[in-house]
Amino acid sequence: MRVAGVFHNLAFLLVGLVIFQPALLAALQWPEGKKIAISLSYDDALSSQLDNAVPALNQRGLKASFYIVPLSDAFKNRIQQWRQLAQQGHELGNHSLFHACHSGKPGREWVQPWNALDDRMVQAMVNEITLANTLLTSLDGKSTRTFTPPCFDQMAKDGNYVEAVKAQFIAVKSLEDPSFAALIAPNKISSAEIIEFIENQPVNIKLINVLFHGVGGDHLITTTEEHAKFLDYLLANKDKYWVDTYRNIMLAKKQQSQ
Ligand SMILES: [Zn+2]
Repeated sequence: MRVAGVFHNLAFLLVGLVIFQPALLAALQWPEGKKIAISLSYDDALSSQLDNAVPALNQRGLKASFYIVPLSDAFKNRIQQWRQLAQQGHELGNHSLFHACHSGKPGREWVQPWNALDDRMVQAMVNEITLANTLLTSLDGKSTRTFTPPCFDQMAKDGNYVEAVKAQFIAVKSLEDPSFAALIAPNKISSAEIIEFIENQPVNIKLINVLFHGVGGDHLITTTEEHAKFLDYLLANKDKYWVDTYRNIMLAKKQQSQ
């Protein structure tokens, strides 16, 4: 996966796993002959997403995936609104219960000592993510969803926990074939910069993940205005872009691989 943008104020690299044959990937078709699928995601269950991103998406009829951290104040205090999101056709995605990340990487001072992935056993992460799925199912009634590993970290104390949970999901963000998918995580950049990233992908890229955090507030912010301008761009180019939940996009891909 090609990566741009800044995540938790740190440029990061991902190594994608080749899980799909290149010939099949090249033959992939999206609905209505659209060239590129765009997965908009909003991570960490933030109030600014409910206040600013959701109205902008709904006004334009665009569907997105919201990767929930149930421990967040915005989840705890506004649970009915998250439930409503699912009823509106958005995806409630799994982002674990507690958002454990590696503590030792640069810029990770925010990782609390009780929540460091370095100290967590794989089975503890499996339990946590399984419970997060149950919690989300109790909200949206869905038996299928997708997962975004917090900080895209994979290694727990005794092994790779993402490998241990991936069978529970239709897809895991960051595990796509890098010849097929690209990702940008906007942080204080303009809509023009996001658009530039999208328009400069090689022709083999058929999925672009645009991974937002705060919209007009909270952390890793995109302003409400730039976010709206970007959505308008997607609408203006709807013949080319298929914007949908990550669940729906990856279901369409899966159906063609069978
Ligand atoms: Zn996160």
